[in-house]
Amino acid sequence: MPATALLEAQWEAIDHVLLDLDGTLLDLDFDSHFWQSLVPQAWGAARGLDPAAAQALLQPRFDACAGTLPWYSTEYWSRELGLDIAALKRQDAGRIRWLPGAQRFLAAARARRKRVVLLTNAHPQALAIKHECTGVLDQVDASYSAHVLGAPKEDARFWRALRQLEPFQPARSLFVDDSAAVLRAACAGSASSARFAGRAARGWAISTRNFAPLTHWLSSWHRNEAAAPIASCSARVEEYQTN
Ligand SMILES: [Mg+2]
Repeated sequence: MPATALLEAQWEAIDHVLLDLDGTLLDLDFDSHFWQSLVPQAWGAARGLDPAAAQALLQPRFDACAGTLPWYSTEYWSRELGLDIAALKRQDAGRIRWLPGAQRFLAAARARRKRVVLLTNAHPQALAIKHECTGVLDQVDASYSAHVLGAPKEDARFWRALRQLEPFQPARSLFVDDSAAVLRAACAGSASSARFAGRAARGWAISTRNFAPLTHWLSSWHRNEAAAPIASCSARVEEYQTN
């Protein structure tokens, strides 16, 4: 068993496992290639621009709405760019793949009867394509898209809306996301609510990239300490597998 795998006692402290999709369960390569190569190529071709020139024009538009709901919307970008973004994604769907260990982590959580919930900023069209390629929705108990809740995970409104639909206690939940902005919003949402006040109010969210390894974090939590500080760590889901 890897040193960073969850121990049974740590599993027992968890009821909800809340998971991000892109960059946490699925490889970001698909999204990176799509927005940095495929979209500039297609958009540029329609305007007689080479991909590099198209990318230079598009990047400021991407940057301007990063972290907002439109940024994650296939419908928004289809309108903005005059492209069928969903169809373009389907063309490149062969790149959609699981991160190593992610499926085993899901299986381990479900074998222990944890409630496994997908929390994603992905637009329902994009989520449907990723599900067709991976079957990810069959491996979780519930799934919530930011587009249905009306705000991205970076926004406190997402967390308020989520708690209405999916009651969970942060103190007995594990949330994994590769975005520091999302993790900050998740922690802030918890800390700002009296219901979630307590030992884990600021420590229930961890990152597959930026937080200390999971067992270290949970050990701190068990000792009733503050959450492990954000550390330079390349821990990913595969390190959390149980066998
Ligand atoms: Mg992500």
